[in-house]
Amino acid sequence: MRALLFAANWKMNVGPAEARRYLATFLTAYPPQPNRQVWFFPPAVSLEAVATAIGNRTDLRAGVQDVYWEPKGAFTGATSSPLAAEAGAKAALIGHSERRHVFGETDEQTGKKLKAVVAAGLHPILCVGETLAQRDAGETLTVVRRQLHAGLGDRVEVLVTVAYEPVWAIGTGRNATPRDAAEVHRAIRAWLKERQAKETRVLYGGSVNVKNAVELLAEQELDGVLVGGASLDPQVWIELVRTAVT
Ligand code: PEP
Repeated sequence: MRALLFAANWKMNVGPAEARRYLATFLTAYPPQPNRQVWFFPPAVSLEAVATAIGNRTDLRAGVQDVYWEPKGAFTGATSSPLAAEAGAKAALIGHSERRHVFGETDEQTGKKLKAVVAAGLHPILCVGETLAQRDAGETLTVVRRQLHAGLGDRVEVLVTVAYEPVWAIGTGRNATPRDAAEVHRAIRAWLKERQAKETRVLYGGSVNVKNAVELLAEQELDGVLVGGASLDPQVWIELVRTAVT
């Protein structure tokens, strides 16, 4: 059976009290499944609540949605990797398209964040993906390779997960077809192989829901999904994680 990772990005939703209620529902209704990991990326203020609720379940993990690259200091409003780790994070999203396109994060900053996350012992999920204009201009693979290089450099020595998330598919209700996603996944794997990367999971993200998850995950190129909207309700999320075939 193929191993799959389901990552829930709650974005700026679900405070600590709601996170505790969510996890109580989730833990009761979702016992560990073979070859299936479920990772939660709550807002930083809810990290500790999620990590505490997860406890010793090795199939579940808490992660931080973003970090600043410095470990500590006078950076008002920022969360560092060591602080996120102390709150219970074991993973981090890096270069999510909302960080890049809403907050103006550059490729260079993404690279610094990835290094900081690894230094703190967190597992990075590097998010890459093209805008609609870039896709229409035939630049998808150029953009994705540039973002991979900015995050990972010439030789990939760290353990990382890559999430391919076309910007035009995030929160829009539009998603790439399994074939479109698989084509980009293959290019990502080829890029990683050329740089001697260790075994790397490649996830797909962008308006994944209970209905399309089955079809997307039937595509063997996908090692899992990164999901925003459809991860906010524990019942819907459980259904998505359960129903997706391997
Ligand atoms: C995301 O937040 O990474 C995402 C893919 O969101 P959504 O599933 O809502 O498109």
